[in-house]
Amino acid sequence: MIAKLHRAGADAFRINMSHGAHADKIPLIEAIRALEKPTGRPTTILFDLQGPKLRVGRFAEPPVMLKTGETFILDRDPTPGDAVRVQLPHPEIFQALTEGARLLLDDGKLTLRVTKVGTDRIETRIEVGGPLSNNKGLNVPDVVVPLAALTEKDRADLSFALEQGADWIALSFVQRPEDVAEARRLIGGKAALLVKIEKPSAIDRLDEILELADAAMVARGDLGVELPPERVPPLQKRIIETARRLGKPVVVATQMLESMIQAPTPTRAEVSDVATAIYDGADAIMLSAESAAGAWPEESVAMMDRIAVSVEADPGYAARIHFTETLPDATTADALSAAAQGIVETVSASGICCFTISGSTARRIARERPSVPLLVMTPRQVTARRLGLLWGAHAVRTRDVASFEEMVAKSKRMVLRHGIGKSGDRVVLMAGVPFGTPGSTNVLHVVRLTGDELKNYTGPEGG
Ligand code: PGA
Ligand code: MN
Repeated sequence: MIAKLHRAGADAFRINMSHGAHADKIPLIEAIRALEKPTGRPTTILFDLQGPKLRVGRFAEPPVMLKTGETFILDRDPTPGDAVRVQLPHPEIFQALTEGARLLLDDGKLTLRVTKVGTDRIETRIEVGGPLSNNKGLNVPDVVVPLAALTEKDRADLSFALEQGADWIALSFVQRPEDVAEARRLIGGKAALLVKIEKPSAIDRLDEILELADAAMVARGDLGVELPPERVPPLQKRIIETARRLGKPVVVATQMLESMIQAPTPTRAEVSDVATAIYDGADAIMLSAESAAGAWPEESVAMMDRIAVSVEADPGYAARIHFTETLPDATTADALSAAAQGIVETVSASGICCFTISGSTARRIARERPSVPLLVMTPRQVTARRLGLLWGAHAVRTRDVASFEEMVAKSKRMVLRHGIGKSGDRVVLMAGVPFGTPGSTNVLHVVRLTGDELKNYTGPEGG
């Protein structure tokens, strides 16, 4: 199924550390990486850490029925709970909660209002009742929870993910910039870091948080529990805009094709929602239960792919996407990336081809959402893999080049081989000279393909 999803258009796979044991993940990781040899394409794996997700304890006879208007107690007693009380196995929360704060249970289906706070007992009034079963999630939207960004479980999951060669680590329930800094320190440059925006406190400090991260996710599931759901669409636009301004890839997630968990076709509203995310400027769109547990995983991926292709073929897409101004930094690399699209249009180039070590040139070009395909050549496997989250980047791992002439010759061959251009076409090349120095993009070169580039070439180059 993983191979089928890849063929249907999936560029990246999320391994959700909230579910299952480490041993269960290994065959998945192997199956994903095994796609690289036969397809000659890099794969991208995002390990998603659960983060400080709060849960209630267990009940003697679940589910219990919480009645609207009655009192419900959260305490520190591990004895199985009932319709009057249950354990809250997070001691830190007792000090942080204040009278009047809301507690949302089971994805916001039930609401409790805090009426009295003690050191080991919280009294609440049930504002919206309903059934409650074991270990259901608890959201506390009104307070900044004094919890570390990474729990003990997250630390163990993180070292597993890094051992397994994670390309990206996703950090859940980020609340403060310090959370991102802490995760970065623990990751130590071994993987790129994506922050999931799903807490109101993260929205309050969005710019600072995104500046410290490599990518962001609009995590609409929890965001729509912590905040009223009608606040999510404007925030989706704001998060995407902020990420694009900072030149960081942004993922839109959750309930995108929810009805396809059961049905082979989506609702029109879902199709429109996926399209909107792309018009808004998302780099990537994500499936959750649709592909992880649904009956139509392959159809869901194919549907998303078709929606993306359809939106990007709309002439109105370019106009909308360029509504968000992405001002170049005062660097040569940004200036050249911003100029590339203009040159593509003037000379009717068929593609852009860049040579990058860290991937930063590719990020800059992709941010401009060029109207032609982007071929990224890199000698580093980690870079090729990480670029899977980036809008429109077709990354290829190649051998390093030693000279400008070699770079030009190789680019022409790769452009032909990957179908980015054909005989007679012009292509825009970007690279940094001298070679082998990261972050030094300073060359923009326009070449014309003769079609003979592959003829006399026999040497190996990968990709
Ligand atoms: P989750 O994150 O699926 O890990 O909860 C995404 C979201 O909250 O939308
Ligand atoms: Mn979430």
